[in-house]
Amino acid sequence: MDYFPIFLKLSTRPCLLVGGGEIALRKARLLLQAGATLTVLAPTLGAGLAALAEQGALRHVAERFAPHHLVGMRLAVAATGLADVDQQVADAAEAAGIWVNVVDDPQASSYITPSIVDRSPLVIALSTGGGAPVLARMLRERLESLIPAGWGRVADFARVMRERVAARIANSDARRAFWESVLAGPIVQDLVAGNLDRAEALLSDRLAASDGIPRGAVYLVGAGPGNPDLLTFRALHLMQQADVVLYDKLVAPALLDWVRRDAERIFVGKTRANHTLRQEEINQLMVRLASEGKRVLRLKGGDPFIFGRGGEEIETLAQHGIPFEVVPGITAASGAAAYAGIPLTHRDYAQSVTFVTGHRQDGSINLDWPMLCRPGQTVVVYMGVATTPALCEAFIRHGRSADCPVAMVERATLIDQRVLVSTLADLPGRIAELEIRSPSLMIVGEVVQLAAKLGWFAPRGAGEPATIGESVQKPG
Ligand code: SAH
Repeated sequence: MDYFPIFLKLSTRPCLLVGGGEIALRKARLLLQAGATLTVLAPTLGAGLAALAEQGALRHVAERFAPHHLVGMRLAVAATGLADVDQQVADAAEAAGIWVNVVDDPQASSYITPSIVDRSPLVIALSTGGGAPVLARMLRERLESLIPAGWGRVADFARVMRERVAARIANSDARRAFWESVLAGPIVQDLVAGNLDRAEALLSDRLAASDGIPRGAVYLVGAGPGNPDLLTFRALHLMQQADVVLYDKLVAPALLDWVRRDAERIFVGKTRANHTLRQEEINQLMVRLASEGKRVLRLKGGDPFIFGRGGEEIETLAQHGIPFEVVPGITAASGAAAYAGIPLTHRDYAQSVTFVTGHRQDGSINLDWPMLCRPGQTVVVYMGVATTPALCEAFIRHGRSADCPVAMVERATLIDQRVLVSTLADLPGRIAELEIRSPSLMIVGEVVQLAAKLGWFAPRGAGEPATIGESVQKPG
């Protein structure tokens, strides 16, 4: 984060605006809206600023800028449009420790002003770091259309009622849950429509019915293979509500940015001693936190019920009577297949698909090889990077052709995804050569050849086609 976003209380604070033209006028209006005590410094004023000065909305000082004008100011804006004067203001303000903005010059500024969506008291500020104002404006337009005008009343109502609710519900977790359920309900429609009395009556009823005790729960949420675009709406919703999140190393760091900022984060992948927290310990931790009234988000890579030990976790929760919810996620096989251009089934090549784990149990890979080597199917191997040579060897020994196409998809769906297309015979060597690492998924079967045939382009942004990070095709 290059800039730290804050909302300043400018009301009655002295601010200096240097410049008397149109640009300065726009800045003056904003500063006055926020209640600043504004001094405008300019030899002459344009019509707009002159009118404001006449109304007494601001004080006009008809002088050229000198550093002493900054004395006592909290904030400065340089908007003369004259590069040397603006720079002089910026330098003097910087020297005096006063925050300064030079209009359209992020370099010279110590703060920049965001694009604003104003539903006061609800205000949304957004910034591209001064680098892409058009993008900021486009996003702002989207937000404007997303947030009904009446939402200012919703924010106002919540502000007015805040103390009353706090007096009745002392526990902060319970209070947050109360507000979430109130603001997700019909009260919002009443407020948007201006039915304030009805909204207040509704709130009073809900408040009277509340016992103020936080209700703990566990949400076992599949976060998908890593790309945040592949989260479900439900996952996102629960990520925003969680009091505490338990995550492991398969959860891409980018996904954690989508969790409520104030949620406590507990990494359960490994302890300091570099040992995996045992499954039993994770289960007990979830039970303890939920019993304390916390809403616990157990964030899992992919889908919680596919090689995710989700079944064991809910068993413990059920035993302890903890309410829980399981949210499916896009499993790595689906993500890798889609982003590598490999259909897992195909009328001509594969009538079934099987997901297996390549993880060794007691040194041996315990799989039904004759079944996996029957023709007309695709086999997807999870957790198989370390055991690739043994896996390929077993496939061949049990009857799959040494030429059988196989793909290894590393970090599927992420920006640095790599797709290696090879054969059962060549794959182990190629993996070592290209240093393919976990998390990677192996896809075995005739369908793999379609990736190359289709000349695949994987979707990246909002429907934009883009090439995959690196496509490593079979030589020759
Ligand atoms: N529950 C998860 C799987 C957990 S097992 C799911 O449904 O996807 C962990 C294995 O999943 C990894 O060893 C790897 O084989 C696979 N995997 C998870 N994320 C992946 C990704 N982004 N790219 C490739 N493989 C991935």
